[in-house]
Amino acid sequence: MQSYGMLIDGRMVNTAEQDPVINPAFGEPFATCARGTKEHVNQAVDAAANAYKTWRKDEAFRRQKLNECAAALQAKVNDIAPVLSQEQGKPVNQAMMEIFGASMWFSYFASLEIQPEILQDDGAKRIQVVRKPLGVVAAITPWNFPVILLSWKLAPAFLAGNTVVAKPSPFTPLSTLMAAEALREVLPAGVLNVLSGGNDLGAELTRHPEIRKISFTGSVATGKKVMLAAADDLKRVTLELGGNDAAIVLDDVNPDEVAEGLFWGAFQNSGQVCAAIKRLYVPEQLHDSIVAKLVDRAKRTKVGNGMEPDVELGPINNDMQFQKVLGLVDDAKKSGGKIEVGGERMGSKGYFLPPTIVTGLGAGAKLVDEEQFGTALPIIKYKHLSDALEQANRTHYGLGGSVWSSNPDRAEEVAREFESGTVWVNQHIDLSPLQPFGGHKWSGIGVENGKWGYNEFTQVQVVDTKRA
Ligand code: NAD
Repeated sequence: MQSYGMLIDGRMVNTAEQDPVINPAFGEPFATCARGTKEHVNQAVDAAANAYKTWRKDEAFRRQKLNECAAALQAKVNDIAPVLSQEQGKPVNQAMMEIFGASMWFSYFASLEIQPEILQDDGAKRIQVVRKPLGVVAAITPWNFPVILLSWKLAPAFLAGNTVVAKPSPFTPLSTLMAAEALREVLPAGVLNVLSGGNDLGAELTRHPEIRKISFTGSVATGKKVMLAAADDLKRVTLELGGNDAAIVLDDVNPDEVAEGLFWGAFQNSGQVCAAIKRLYVPEQLHDSIVAKLVDRAKRTKVGNGMEPDVELGPINNDMQFQKVLGLVDDAKKSGGKIEVGGERMGSKGYFLPPTIVTGLGAGAKLVDEEQFGTALPIIKYKHLSDALEQANRTHYGLGGSVWSSNPDRAEEVAREFESGTVWVNQHIDLSPLQPFGGHKWSGIGVENGKWGYNEFTQVQVVDTKRA
């Protein structure tokens, strides 16, 4: 079985003790990786702190390196994508798209324009606001999009002049370790360090006094722990957490036109997207026709091992998450929900739940109130639009949301009523490096991407010069 090592101070480091990595299509290990310890955390943070002394000085050099990072990832796409598909479960062509996306994020930040702000510039004074790096950043990532979500952190952190110690999820460490090996070819030693290991390693990293900022993507529960750990040293945090996005369909849609967008808004990456549609609200009079369209699309979806051709949806990534989603579907059945399609695990090996659509539920049902993060979607009838909006906003979550209508202006008015970091009209989960992405309420603190995401890896400094 192939073993993958960590990146510390420019060297790939392996350990005698190994952690297995499971292929969710079979529920069996297919490779192993290094098990990092507290000692590795110390070495990696020391290396990053040392590299920071020179890395922070030359912005033009860093921009050149970001472009080289983009190229280095592209060059390795055929090597990394199959491993990403096997450890995560997603179809290999979608794994390739993820790596190309990460490369695009590096290119975007390589040329993001940053100007100092001049507050006053006259005979008496020049007052400028400049942005300085923070130091060593901890980048902690989840298992649904391990490579692209890492690039959302690395690219702006590097542009600003920070160095990074990253820790991927124990469920999907390999693609991150492979990306690290590719980036090692172009980055000075210590600028990027990547450690693999269990959740305790993440906790260790967040407690290290030399870490100045934690950029975390993961669940609400862990996000709260990260914030507590950050308090001791007043570390800065960006928390990108879970969501329970509502989509509201208005009464003027043509079901034929919206069905495909709604389906993929909910089921892309087997529903394991922080900002996927997790609750769908439809007007009473359109309920049956929309349900019928989505059921038809679900039946035509090819579910299977992501390494096989034409597969559209892979398995749920890990057994714990699989059991959680099965439990929510089971609870839905017991609480009077009707399974319109799916609802039973597929095969006896691996963690497959085909796209599952449940009707007849409402507020109070776990599948509606909790983040399922898997292939199960509740479709909920509404009579008055104001009720649907109230339902959309009534959870602790506030990541994304969407409104679907044949009249985009009308939809936009409704969209503005959402309590969420992003709200889409006639689409869901359309992200780009340009636009800030983050959550309201329990879905997070701070944003990633665009100049706003860059700012989160900096601190403001005022340079106030008296001239006369
Ligand atoms: P998770 O919180 O279990 O783990 C995320 C990362 O945190 C992993 O690397 C894990 O090892 C690490 N970790 C665990 N305990 C830690 C601790 N005490 N201190 C520091 N690090 C620790 O999340 P997950 O199950 O991997 O990911 C799924 C969740 O992530 C979902 O809720 C999803 O919505 C969310 N998510 C959010 C976004 C976003 O941008 N808002 C994007 C993707 C996923």
